[in-house]
Amino acid sequence: MNFASDNVLGASPKVLQALLDANEGSEPAYGVDAHTRRAEEMLAEAFEHEVVVFLVATGTGANALALSALTPPWGAVFCHAESHVLDDECGAPEMFTDGAKLVGIEGAGGKFTPEGLAAALERYPRGVVKAVQPSAVSVSQVTEAGTLYSLAELDAIFAVAKPAGLRVHLDGARFANAMVALGCSAAEMSWKRGVDVVSFGATKNGCLACEAVVFFDKALAENFQYRRKRSGHTVSKGRLLGAQMVGYLSDGHWIDNARHANRMAATLAEGLAAAPGVRLAWPTQANEVFAVLPPAADRALKAAGFRGAPWSSGSLPPGFTIGPDEVFLRFVTSFATRPEHVAGLVEAVRAA
Ligand SMILES: *Cc1c(COP(=O)(O)O)cnc(C)c1O
Repeated sequence: MNFASDNVLGASPKVLQALLDANEGSEPAYGVDAHTRRAEEMLAEAFEHEVVVFLVATGTGANALALSALTPPWGAVFCHAESHVLDDECGAPEMFTDGAKLVGIEGAGGKFTPEGLAAALERYPRGVVKAVQPSAVSVSQVTEAGTLYSLAELDAIFAVAKPAGLRVHLDGARFANAMVALGCSAAEMSWKRGVDVVSFGATKNGCLACEAVVFFDKALAENFQYRRKRSGHTVSKGRLLGAQMVGYLSDGHWIDNARHANRMAATLAEGLAAAPGVRLAWPTQANEVFAVLPPAADRALKAAGFRGAPWSSGSLPPGFTIGPDEVFLRFVTSFATRPEHVAGLVEAVRAA
């Protein structure tokens, strides 16, 4: 079983069935079809708010395009120093914003603090022609360390961001995992806190290739259809994106999948933490487990056919060091993870 990421798997059968159903007959192209319309309605219901929705095929596309709607080319976008937008998107946010600057803020466990944001803001004074102008903040929820911002932590960050005139972007590649882990609603994790636009991930939690850029303010989305088209993210058979999102959101499928993935991660974390010589770098709050293993355990896992992703991070807890012989791996669980996969992995580590 491959635990390297939640995108090493295909789509869930339910999403595939929705695709097959939408495959029948003909529909208008470029996302003005009935399936996409239904996906938009379902997202409005899920968020309990009027929304303007743009479906795209990748999370990088969603993030980079969302940020391009929030900042001028001379703007600064504040984000965690290890965030996906800064570290893992090959400069797409910089390209689609026509050159805005991403400013990384350090912070333990993949999270930055309100104080960290305030300090970063001081370095870019408004109206000073030599400085990029503070324009947006981007928060990942789930973070790149598999941790979560509590709703109170989000409030505290936005209490610094909003008075400073920053627009707020939420990178929700694992939105559902975060939402069910916090036990809150989609609204409570977004517009009710002051989030302006969400990259609503669906691929990792069951879709084949579908993410939604969700705006709560029509004015911000005004020219977005042109941004999406010129980025190559306006899919001609757009109903196939719409159908994935409808399948994903129907009958609470997205919530069931996330709950299952989180439960599998909790079991895995518990099992690994109890194994001799194994340490967890961060608390497991959603569907990712970050474990430091002795080399024998790493070898045993490989021999048994289990895969994790070799990891490195600057946001380890203070005093947490990794020995030269130790191996730092990320394990991600998903809708497709079975309890016997988790038990097998834990057993292989324990036996070693
Ligand atoms: C996976 C992920 C994305 C989206 O990545 P793509 O590979 O472009 O789909 C965005 N943000 C975070 C935090 C992610 O983990």
